[in-house]
Formats: sequence, structure tokens, C-alpha cells
Amino acid sequence: GGVLYVVATPIGNLQDLSERAQLVLSRVGLVAAEDTRHSGRLLQHLGLSKPMLALHDHNERDRVVRILEALKAGQDIALISDAGTPLISDPGYVVVREVREAGFRVSPVPGPCALVAGLSAAGLPTDRFLFAGFLPAKRSGRRAALEELREQPATLVFYESPHRILALMEDLVEVMGGERECVLGRELTKTFETFYGGTAQSVRESLEADPNGARGEFVVMVHGAPPAGSQEAGVLDADRLLSLLVAELP
Ligand code: SAM
Repeated sequence: GGVLYVVATPIGNLQDLSERAQLVLSRVGLVAAEDTRHSGRLLQHLGLSKPMLALHDHNERDRVVRILEALKAGQDIALISDAGTPLISDPGYVVVREVREAGFRVSPVPGPCALVAGLSAAGLPTDRFLFAGFLPAKRSGRRAALEELREQPATLVFYESPHRILALMEDLVEVMGGERECVLGRELTKTFETFYGGTAQSVRESLEADPNGARGEFVVMVHGAPPAGSQEAGVLDADRLLSLLVAELP
């Protein structure tokens, strides 16, 4: 049977497409893409013309049938999304799961991924991180999601669109406090790539002050919470110290 290749494509800079990704795209018989018009342009840029299959979150189950037929017929397939690594806040999960369960080989062709690109240059701890993708679009849902993550010790990573980035920063300051360290990566690998780093409050202010601040795509990275109980422990220590000092007073 054929192989399903899960191929990462650029997150902005076309030169980030790997040689192996190009080779695989040139060899497969079918390209399953999130948006065939968008991906058609990438293929055109590579001088390739391939049969394409549109894959959205809501039609993945139907598409599995077509994909399984092609694999059974011995055809190799590439799965790509509009940008970066498929399945990372992008469609493909159902297809990959079903293809694997049907006994066909699924093979990754790794490459660009906004969250990894952001973390690699942010200077926040990366020994453990929690990727939470896009938070809910409505303020109440977003705040509830942030509250759930407030005590999380791992570095937090979110994706956000330009029209909600200021609202997210506002909620971050409200829920996690203006002192929480964070780094925003904007337009990574593109001409106007920018990093904003500092306290949540200062990052929020720089973004508001920058006329281009709320343009482009964002990876939002937030330092994890201090170890659980460390603040209380600090208070207890101070109390104990005080009582020891008081006991020494004449
Ligand atoms: N699959 C993609 C990946 O591997 O990163 C993510 C797809 S998701 C639908 C799109 C979101 O990823 C954007 O809203 C933004 O938060 C983030 N993103 C994608 N490209 C980016 C870039 N060049 N700079 C910053 N963030 C980016």
C-alpha cells in the first residue's frame, strides 16, 4: 500500500520548505490540503501540478474514504496544511488516526512550526511547556481557560490572531497578573518578525503603542507559575522570622 506523508510547509518564509518536503511533494500522487487554492500556489511555486483533495475539519471523515482507496491502490499521499506542521492547530487528526488504524504507514516530514520557532527564540524555560493552541474567542471562556492554567508550572504557549491579541493580553494581565513574564513572537520568519518580551503589563503596553502591534500572526508564550506554595512558604518563613526576632527583643 501507499504511504501517507505528513509534510510541514513554511510559516511565512518559503525558503523554509525542506529539500525532503519538496522531494516528497514531487513524488506523491495526491496532495490532501487544508485549502487547495492556497496550497495550489505553493505547488505552483515549486513547479508542480498534482491532484488535490480539500481537507477541512468538518469533512475529514468523508475524505478518509478517498484517502484509504488511494493508499490501497498503492498511491503515496502528502498531507499538508496552510502553514507549518499539519495537525498542530490544523486539520488532519482524523485522517492520520484512521489511516494508521487501517494499517498503512504514516510518516512525518518535519519542518516549520510556529510554536517551536517561537519557543526556540523566546528565552523562556523549554524543559516543559504546555501548548494550549487558540483560547476561546469569547472573553468569559478565555478568562476561564487562563484561570485553569494560572498555577501551571510549565511554560504556556498559545496561538492568537491579530484581531484578538490585545484582548488576550488584557485578560492575561487580569488573570495572571501584570508581573508575569511573557514573550510574544509576531510574524515569525517573515519580513516584519518582531519579539515583544517583558512583564505581561509591559508587553501589553508595547503592543498598544506599536501602530503595527496588532497586525500579523502571534505565538504567545508565558512563563510558568512559581512552584506551588512558594508564596505561602515565603509568608510563613517571614512570620517565623518575625516571631524569632520578637522573642529576642527586650
Ligand atoms: N500548523 C501551524 C504551525 O505548525 O504552527 C499553525 C496553524 S494555526 C491555524 C495558525 C496560527 O499559528 C496563527 O494564528 C498564529 O497564532 C500561529 N502562526 C502561524 N504562523 C506564524 C508566524 N509566522 N508567526 C507567528 N505565529 C504564527
